[in-house]
Parts: sequence; C-alpha cells; structure tokens
Amino acid sequence: MASAPTNSYEAHPLTGKLLKTFFGVYPIGPLVSMPIAGLLRRLGARLPFAFVLRYHSISDNAYSLPGLAVRAAAFEAQLRWLASHFQPVTLDGLCSGTSGSGVRFAITFDDGYRDNYSTALPLLKAVNVPATVFVTTGCVGSEMRIWVDELVEHARALRWKFGRLRREFLQAMRATPQERTAFISGLRLASGVTGKEIAANIPMLGWDDLHQLEQSGIVRVGAHTVTHPRLSQLTPADVTREALGSKHALEAELGSTVSSFAIPFGAAADFTPSTVESLRQSGFDIICSSLSGVVRPSSDRLVVPRVGVYADDTVASILTKVLRALSSRV
Ligand SMILES: [Zn+2]
Repeated sequence: MASAPTNSYEAHPLTGKLLKTFFGVYPIGPLVSMPIAGLLRRLGARLPFAFVLRYHSISDNAYSLPGLAVRAAAFEAQLRWLASHFQPVTLDGLCSGTSGSGVRFAITFDDGYRDNYSTALPLLKAVNVPATVFVTTGCVGSEMRIWVDELVEHARALRWKFGRLRREFLQAMRATPQERTAFISGLRLASGVTGKEIAANIPMLGWDDLHQLEQSGIVRVGAHTVTHPRLSQLTPADVTREALGSKHALEAELGSTVSSFAIPFGAAADFTPSTVESLRQSGFDIICSSLSGVVRPSSDRLVVPRVGVYADDTVASILTKVLRALSSRV
C-alpha cells in the first residue's frame, strides 16, 4: 500500500502536471524516454546501479486507492520497454553484491492483490521478467482486507469526495492502532457494507494462487505483515509478531524460505531503526521500503529504496523518477 491516497503526482502537483502534459501523451513519451534511458545507461556505465519498481494492483478496475492500480496494457508496455533497455533481475540477484554492470531493475508488487497472479504473471512470463510479490497474509483465504482498502470501500458507499477520503486517511494514519480499529468499525456501521461484500470487491491472492506464483519459477513471494499496520507505531514485540506471523504462514504453506519483506507504506515516518532491527532478527535479509533511491553494489540490503509506479505513469515518467532517485540518499 502506498504512503498516501494520491495519484503519483499529487505530492508534486506542478511537476505532475508538467510530466503529464509533456511526457504522458503518445508519441512524445517515447521520444523523451530514449534520451533519459541513454543518460541512465551512461551513468550506469560509470557507476553501476539498479532500481526497484513498486507496483500494487495490475488491473483495469481501480478497486483500491485512486491511482494505485496500473492498467494491464500500461504494465505490459512498461515491462517490454524496460526489459529491452535495461537488465531485469530478481530482488535477490539485485542485492547479491557486485555482479552485473550497467543499469539493472527489479519488479515488486505490494499487498497481494489477486491480479498479481491472474494478470501480471502471464505478462511477466511473456517478457521473461522476474518479480517479487509481497503478501499481507491476513488477507489470504479470509475476508480480511487491508484497512486502507476497506476505508476506500466505505468512502465509496458513503459518497465521500476525494478530499474527504484523503483527510480521513491521513487522520487514520496518525491514529493509534486501537483508534484506527474503532474508526473502521464505525464506518462499517455507517456505510452498511459488510466484510463479505468488501472481500468480493477486492480480490486478494489465495493460497492456490500463491502456490502457482512460487511454482512459476519467475515470481518469488515475500512477506508484508499479517494486518498491514504502520510498523512505526508498534512495539518491537508487535513488529516481530507481524513479521514472523506473515513469514511463518507463507513458509508453512509454500514450503520455501521467505527472506524478503516490504514495509507497509514504507516511507520515512512508517518505520524506525528499531523496526528494521526487529525485522532483521525475524530472519529477513532484504527489506524493501518506499524511500526514494537506487541500489548500488555497496547498498544496505536492510532498507532497499523503491520507485513507486501508479496509474498515470508512463515509461517517461518512470525514468524521470529513476533519474530523481539517483540523486537521493538513502
Ligand atoms: Zn502495502
């Protein structure tokens, strides 16, 4: 889940407007993409780096936060373009030291939406690009849904405008876990939408899907907690409970070791050094964040930066974000 209910550009409205105007319109996008890719390759030849993309849902139906779902055709176009200009690698491969040169990239998906299996997997196979899917295990085989998605469903039923949804989301992010639970319970009463209806509206991966993903040989499964809390608000013991809960559920079902983890929300305010230490002690050796940055051979595997991709993104805007990430310090 992203750090705010925004489309990709809301944090930088002017930049977003400019990007969309100048880069988002075919065929200007590809014309801009080529020189940026050339620049990235020249920089990569001088000092190798990799970037990690963070997707969520790949779907033509946006059932989650506005802007979070990337359309299948857009995803496929991005995959094909990136794979023909840079070297796709697994998350493990990307973090495994000094191997590789130039510009490499890895694909990740957060939360565990079912379309990662039904829509993304066939495209990943067709283009032969590996990926990691980070799963919120409380949603697997149950009616539980990530609280942000549930909030969006209630907001739709209550006909909130986007501004109201954004306000309530930010308030819920600041609230304690107990306050947030009470808030969501109140919304259930107000909207009258049942857990069963919400679960039907937001398809998440089931265990069979996860087996298929693991057996595909092209997708690895990682952990993303049990309930998608904001880890910075939890005690170390509760962080460990969430981390081990998701890790052990996946390992018991899939029969393989799960050693990568994505921090829910993943921005600077969503975790602390203590969080990362609890995750390390829980057995994770690759921990993905949503911080801006690229991965160098010497980078810390315990706070891997990622570039978020959203509904409005084009290849050109993704490359622009990577270029910006190159100047970030993580
Ligand atoms: Zn998430």
